Amino acid sequence: MSFDVALVREQFPILKREIDGNPLIYLDNAATTQKPQCVIDALVAYYTECNSNVHRGAHRLADEATRKFEAARDIVKHFINAPKREEVIWTKGTTEGINIVANGLGKLLKPGDEVIATGMEHHANIVTWQQACKASGATFHTVPVTEQGELDLEVYQSLLNSNTKFVAFPHVSNALGTLNPIKELTAMAKAVGAWVLVDGAQGIAHGGVDVQEVGCDFYAFSGHKIYGPMGIGILWGREELLSEWPVWQTGGEMIATVTLQDATWNVLPYRLEAGTPNVGDAIALGEAIRWFSELDLVGAAAHEQALIARATELAQEVEGLRMIGQARHKVGAFSFVMSEGHPADIGFLLDRQGIAIRTGDHCAQPLMNRFGVPGTARMSFAVYNTLEEVEAFFKALRKVQMMLA
Ligand SMILES: *Cc1c(COP(=O)(O)O)cnc(C)c1O
Repeated sequence: MSFDVALVREQFPILKREIDGNPLIYLDNAATTQKPQCVIDALVAYYTECNSNVHRGAHRLADEATRKFEAARDIVKHFINAPKREEVIWTKGTTEGINIVANGLGKLLKPGDEVIATGMEHHANIVTWQQACKASGATFHTVPVTEQGELDLEVYQSLLNSNTKFVAFPHVSNALGTLNPIKELTAMAKAVGAWVLVDGAQGIAHGGVDVQEVGCDFYAFSGHKIYGPMGIGILWGREELLSEWPVWQTGGEMIATVTLQDATWNVLPYRLEAGTPNVGDAIALGEAIRWFSELDLVGAAAHEQALIARATELAQEVEGLRMIGQARHKVGAFSFVMSEGHPADIGFLLDRQGIAIRTGDHCAQPLMNRFGVPGTARMSFAVYNTLEEVEAFFKALRKVQMMLA
């Protein structure tokens, strides 16, 4: 059976919305995805039926909340094929997950150590490492991006050496859609003994991940980009690293014992989950991942490739349109600039036709500088987008072009 996009769409109430009389065409999925009814229901059910703080209550609600919360952690563990549930840490999103690792790394680095990220990072996966290096006196390098929008593997190889302590890169570029060869990039870093973090914010909903197969040490993602709520995310890391990693946030839940002068830390996963966790959103993220993993994901991936192929084809017919990022392996995002107008004007005029895209630097200023553009117009896809929407987008874009001419 082929992937049934109509059936998927039915589960997203927001897709029935109209914008000024036009049906909503939502193509801003790299910024955040919409939520299926079952995720909305899971969140409402939590607050309606069993809202309670977890792990410390001796009453029925606390017990139910704790069970659902920990069951959601198991869903994530299976989805990413983590070896152990204790390695799955709840965060508020990719940014926080990366900060947990970067803050600890800053305390482990010393002058002479080297850290590598890339020129295609979201700011969350570059500013963090820059600052960790600044604080510790380590040296920071970045892997350049080719004109096509791929990482330059030759330069990457030449940067790796026995001083390389840490390497970070994105699974998928949020601005270009480039799908990076993360298994190969990881193996190259491992060959010099470096730790590896993969920013999975985009990759998680576009192909997913098997962290054991990739061989990385850390993988971070956000719930809201995989059909779950905002304010919840995951940091996965190897147990032997996470159990020794210098803690960033201290407080309740993460301690074992406290005296007036000192404290000892709790076991994983709690030692890295300071304070009351976001229980309701964690449970709803578990539901989102359950829902997502029950889709025909092979069919969904083929469907998405058809959308990107069609977009590429139609973009080539638009005079004055320059695609930014033409990697051989591309998922999720499709970025471009047009000679007629600033990306912000394009976005504004598309919005008036009911089409939601994102314009700007996509939290990737170094990458925009690399391509010599102030920003791009970006459409980005989810499992509910259709070929008709891609075609409607280019029809609307032609109107925009006429308005701007
Ligand atoms: C969205 C995104 C982030 C940041 O995610 P938050 O949910 O804002 O923490 C980091 N990296 C990439 C590639 C992203 O797309």
